[in-house]
Amino acid sequence: MTKKIRVRFAPSPTGGLHLGGVRTVLFNYLFAKQNGGDFIVRIEDTDQTRFVEGAEAYIFDTLKWCGMVPDESPLHGGPFAPYRQSERKANYRQYAEQLVIDGYAYYAFDTPADLEAMRTAYKTPENPSPQYNHALRDKMRNSLTLTADETANLLASDTPYVIRIKMPLNETVSFNDMIRGEVNFNTSQVDDKVLLKADGMPTYHLAVVVDDYQMKITHAFRGEEWLPSAPVHLLLWDYLGWKNEMPEWAHLPLILKPDGNGKLSKRDGDRLGFPVFASDWTDPKTHETTTGFKEHGFLPEAFVNLLAMLGWNDGTDQEIFSMDELIAQFSMERVHKGGAKFDYEKAKWYNHEWIKRKHPKELELSIQKYFAEAGITVTDDALLAKAIELVKDRCTLLPDFVTQAAFFFQLPEQIDIAAVQPKWDDKKNMFFNELIRAYELSAVWESSDLETEFKEMAAAHQLKPGELMLPFRIMLVGGKFGPGVFEIAATIGRNETVARIKKVVVLLHL
Ligand code: GLU
Repeated sequence: MTKKIRVRFAPSPTGGLHLGGVRTVLFNYLFAKQNGGDFIVRIEDTDQTRFVEGAEAYIFDTLKWCGMVPDESPLHGGPFAPYRQSERKANYRQYAEQLVIDGYAYYAFDTPADLEAMRTAYKTPENPSPQYNHALRDKMRNSLTLTADETANLLASDTPYVIRIKMPLNETVSFNDMIRGEVNFNTSQVDDKVLLKADGMPTYHLAVVVDDYQMKITHAFRGEEWLPSAPVHLLLWDYLGWKNEMPEWAHLPLILKPDGNGKLSKRDGDRLGFPVFASDWTDPKTHETTTGFKEHGFLPEAFVNLLAMLGWNDGTDQEIFSMDELIAQFSMERVHKGGAKFDYEKAKWYNHEWIKRKHPKELELSIQKYFAEAGITVTDDALLAKAIELVKDRCTLLPDFVTQAAFFFQLPEQIDIAAVQPKWDDKKNMFFNELIRAYELSAVWESSDLETEFKEMAAAHQLKPGELMLPFRIMLVGGKFGPGVFEIAATIGRNETVARIKKVVVLLHL
């Protein structure tokens, strides 16, 4: 019987979710759904010093916004609960102690001062930050250097200790990464990582292995920054006797800065003026807010789509994918090894494409919010739907609807008289005065009729419609933008159209 596919996203709740983090969720989610598997969210909060209030709720809100609902999580429950590592604390010690018994780990009693002294004593120009490893463990205060009695006494007298892995000397450990192929490590390069801390909490290294095993995880997909930790995890799977149960791994490429090299950071976003987090995040301590894609006016469909394309494609030219299409098409083998450069202009292009594809009804709710924030009251749903339909091809981000469509709901805030004034003359004045009368009386109020009437009247006045369109647009909209003027007139209605023409004609007369 083939095993049920089970993947996990295992964030540490330390702050807002970087787009790289959401892409990790996405690739996990797509893989699980494609294979009829389970998508689990496990909160890795063993490092209590890094715990940040609100970060977990933020993660779940983000997943909900993106449409990626976990099958199991602290919020959704599940057969392997609890899904918060801090609540599984009692579960880990036995494994750390077993490793000590089997000779793969040891107790270390060094105080912070001892560690500091070691770093100073062994610091050389070639090795500026000495690590607790095969070369130095013999010089430290641990169960390898102390006698069994001394160790037993220290343990009995409640002396603080940690349990460290004993990294073997000069062995090669390797695994097959779904993206990178065979990856090898020399164990001498890796320090003796702490597995169990003095407070009894496991470190990430121990907890991730124990939990992936106990939660029957079949595939572990995570960011490339975790690749250096992989040898420790490989050895733990082996030492704990679970090697045959080890998940398949894929380490996802970094998302790179648009300019230069290196990982895209929150600071790059601030520097270049674009979001890096999924949604707004306010640090509870500093109260500093980092803006998110959501609040910048991205649609979740576009956000998901653009994330999928950061490091993946389906081998064709297709760029627009719905979640269902991604689930059908995604394959981890097609994820690139190299980092993906983030391009904000391209990100906006995805949003524009998604806005164009949306039915106005689907956009109404989110757009209402932006109008409300701009202090514009929208009470007529039909008018809103029509306005959205008319301007959506011109909008890249959701707030663009406010600039593009505010004039449907209120008088234009500014009127670009200067665009009309220089070419305004008596003939045009007469034309518009007659247009006012004609429009006041026209039997039907439809854009095609309004246009015919306008053009026939222009011909009668021996004016080219082209010369009259700009003034008409400025009258209705206030500036040189917007959809077709007759569509606008038809949408805002007779009274509003006539009133706006009158107002500007008077202004031009002054
Ligand atoms: N807790 C790690 C993080 O914060 C998870 C790494 C992993 O998936 O193994 O990203």
